[in-house]
Amino acid sequence: MIKAVVGANWGDEGKGKITDMLAQEADIIVRFQGGANAGHTIVNDYGKFALHTLPSGVFYNHTTSIIGNGVALNIPVFFKEYQEIVDRGVPAPKIMISDRAQIVMPYHILFDQYEEERLGGKSFGSTKSGIAPFYSDKYAKIGFQVNELFHEDSLREKVQRVCETKNVLLEHLYHKPLLNPDEIMEELKKYREMVAPYVGDVSLYLWDAIKEGKEILLEGQLGSLKDPDHGIYPMVTSSSTLAAYGAIGAGVPPYEIKEIITVCKAYSSAVGAGAFVSEIFGEEADELRRRGGDGGEYGATTGRPRRMGWFDCVASKYGCRMQGTTDVAFTVLDVLGYLDEIPVCTGYEIDGKVTTDFPTTGLLEKAKPVLEVLPGWKSDIRGIKKYEDLPENCRKYVEFVEEHIGFPITMISNGPGRNDIIYRK
Ligand code: GDP
Repeated sequence: MIKAVVGANWGDEGKGKITDMLAQEADIIVRFQGGANAGHTIVNDYGKFALHTLPSGVFYNHTTSIIGNGVALNIPVFFKEYQEIVDRGVPAPKIMISDRAQIVMPYHILFDQYEEERLGGKSFGSTKSGIAPFYSDKYAKIGFQVNELFHEDSLREKVQRVCETKNVLLEHLYHKPLLNPDEIMEELKKYREMVAPYVGDVSLYLWDAIKEGKEILLEGQLGSLKDPDHGIYPMVTSSSTLAAYGAIGAGVPPYEIKEIITVCKAYSSAVGAGAFVSEIFGEEADELRRRGGDGGEYGATTGRPRRMGWFDCVASKYGCRMQGTTDVAFTVLDVLGYLDEIPVCTGYEIDGKVTTDFPTTGLLEKAKPVLEVLPGWKSDIRGIKKYEDLPENCRKYVEFVEEHIGFPITMISNGPGRNDIIYRK
């Protein structure tokens, strides 16, 4: 049985916490897309961790953590992170890396930086982790799969060939130092040594696991609105953030994904550029940012302050629909306890007309939020375990959101810890 944990919005919804929590019951956790560009923050008995590449299941002894073929694998970053958690007392996790996962090359990171520099003020706000150049190369068929590391002659020939085209761009477009194929080969040999003990046929492993009745979690990165097809293109990421892509990025039959748990935050935050209709500014935003998440809304990878906004029913309804949501996990609700009144965006006004359907980018840029204001509950809801024990206005907020997004909120997260969860089924 496979469950997917994915985001409804712009990312940072608290997927790491929900995955970590669900991993208690799981056998296998798989990352199926994205790379080290975003991160999950997880708080558990070992401490507080920011994971970028490792799946959120690495804190349990009973789970196997898998890097699927859809991931942009930065091998040195992966092993640095692995070492860091082990150094902090977490038992060495069981890891498997797909032999079909592709490798983030050192030059992908350089090209990401150079392109952002070249675009100047028109940049995408990339985290400069090499993700866009990586996926461009993957689909241009000049990427490197992990298995290619083990065929040295053909690897050398391909590195040579790829460097020739990259060097034309470096010389004439970016005016930067050229790549040296011998140096890249040396680097790749180091990568080979690092990954060798962990490489395997992931889709076969998962096929067998499904037949044995194992519980598998697919862990998504970012959220629906960053999907390259269905998100706010071009201010999106370069790999699909949707649960459906889990079938491809992990190599499992789509019909085996039985539950799609879409994580939705009780207010909005976004990083990078792009339209953000319910965005707020000034002191109002600063206060929510300071109080948000667990220690403030700042990027787990970059430390950048996140853009803040009120809950957006239009974006979340769409985000949940595109994921194929079976359950909504509504997170970080505790943070809103300080507000007297809580505005919620229930519609977009575009050219004088109000809609509740999420539009394409050009129209989105013209959209103005239609806000409804709900009364706050003015209390700390951390520690509450039963839905009925939440303050009435808090329940009203949850039910208001549920009605507007049209998907069942079956879990409410009221704190960063594993046990800060209220089930509601
Ligand atoms: P992810 O990328 O979707 O996993 O999101 P983040 O790593 O940005 O998680 C959001 C932040 O919120 C992290 O610092 C979590 O520890 C924290 N967090 C998750 N759920 C809750 C919650 O219910 N309440 C509070 N206060 N913090 C939470």
